[in-house]
Amino acid sequence: MKKKIRLKKSVLKKLKVIGVIFCIILAIFIFYSVQIHSLTSLGYSKEASRKILFSFKKEYVLSVGKNETLNAAFESDDYKEKYCDQYSKIEYQDQDHLIRNINTLIEKGYSNNNISMILAHGNDQDVTLFAKRDKINYLEEFFSVPYAKLRNYDRYVDYSNETGEDDEMTVLAVNLDMDKEDYVDPVIVSQYSTDMLVNKHRSLTEDFEPEDLVSIDSEYAADDTQAGARIAVNAFISMYKAAKKEGYDLVINSSYRSYQDQVELCDSYRQLYGDNYVKNYVAQPGFSEHQTGLSFDIGSRNSNIFAQSPEYEWIQENAHKYGFIQRFPSKYEAITGFRAEPWHYRYVGKEIATYIYENDISFEEYYAIFLDD
Ligand SMILES: [Zn+2]
Repeated sequence: MKKKIRLKKSVLKKLKVIGVIFCIILAIFIFYSVQIHSLTSLGYSKEASRKILFSFKKEYVLSVGKNETLNAAFESDDYKEKYCDQYSKIEYQDQDHLIRNINTLIEKGYSNNNISMILAHGNDQDVTLFAKRDKINYLEEFFSVPYAKLRNYDRYVDYSNETGEDDEMTVLAVNLDMDKEDYVDPVIVSQYSTDMLVNKHRSLTEDFEPEDLVSIDSEYAADDTQAGARIAVNAFISMYKAAKKEGYDLVINSSYRSYQDQVELCDSYRQLYGDNYVKNYVAQPGFSEHQTGLSFDIGSRNSNIFAQSPEYEWIQENAHKYGFIQRFPSKYEAITGFRAEPWHYRYVGKEIATYIYENDISFEEYYAIFLDD
């Protein structure tokens, strides 16, 4: 009987110990969960929150609040405690080596603002390469232009030294490859879209054809051989009808031209007017917008000189409403690389055409600012 009681007592003691340990573990677990929750509810990931707790940075992080760069830092193996405060002041970018690159840039002596600026002007690879360079002073020189690219930095310096152009024009020109020779080493454009850019630095392939190529009824054209992308042809017909209602008579003189058509066109102009004329007025095969099916050379049925016709005045004020822009106005010769062509219109859609009309910029500028990646 005594034995039994003793046994019971020792079991009870053991149970008590186990109970106390269990309660301590439970308390720790609850405490830990509450701590983690205070961080995750702020927007920090579980992984980052754990690291914040174990590096005793919770109070600091709570004082900063939600911060994506800080979250990325605590998630990263590259986290360095001494840069903790700087991480929180640098603008976050979704880049694979973000924290490693920030560390390198801090070590190079860049300010937090400069680092934010560097990160915003390139992708992960661009930033990684840039971080390896010696420190560049006066980053603002080019990178205050929102669409400046880190990878073009040396070309900006060369171009602005050579031409004396201001920062904005330098960035624009280099991003558009205007520092390279015309027709040499172009970007190959193979994807059809109504906002595609084709010029002396951006070439279509020999077999490129527009989407939904349709022939143009001779009611709207100088002859029955004309064709274009359906969307542009329909837009032209709407514009034609609107002009007609007001007493103006538009006509398409030239439209879609295949690569081979452009080869033949260049040859015939060369024989007639010589190399110089072709260089200034006729795009080389692959470099003509006419191959996109989105460009039309427009004339007036009432006048041989379109630029002096009432139709020209009308179209200048109305083309954008139908999605067309005058592609090569004289004021943009330096940017487009083509002498003025008052007759050449390009379909880009109403939204872009209206923006270009209202802000008085070239399509090249529009592309560099909004479409280039
Ligand atoms: Zn043309």
